[in-house]
Amino acid sequence: MKQKRVPQRMCVGCLEMKPKKELIRIVRTPDGEVVLDATGKKPGRGVYLCVNKDCLAKALKGNKLEKGLHQSLSEELLQRLKVGLGYENPSKN
Ligand SMILES: [Zn+2]
Repeated sequence: MKQKRVPQRMCVGCLEMKPKKELIRIVRTPDGEVVLDATGKKPGRGVYLCVNKDCLAKALKGNKLEKGLHQSLSEELLQRLKVGLGYENPSKN
């Protein structure tokens, strides 16, 4: 049997390699904006994160997102991230 090659990326939270489609990409665009990249195709420097609360918490605790993106994250962006990842209800907004 031929083995299918699945592209793998490392989650910045748990540091495990996972298939790309199980991760969410967060990218810093050339404009210096940090956005969620649902398609995985936006240009810019990206980091990957499991769709998992714990991994986001770990990544935030170690400033992994900021280090990976070389960009500090605003409160507003963090909130957007959490909502975008489905961790928090956007109604608070
Ligand atoms: Zn993870």
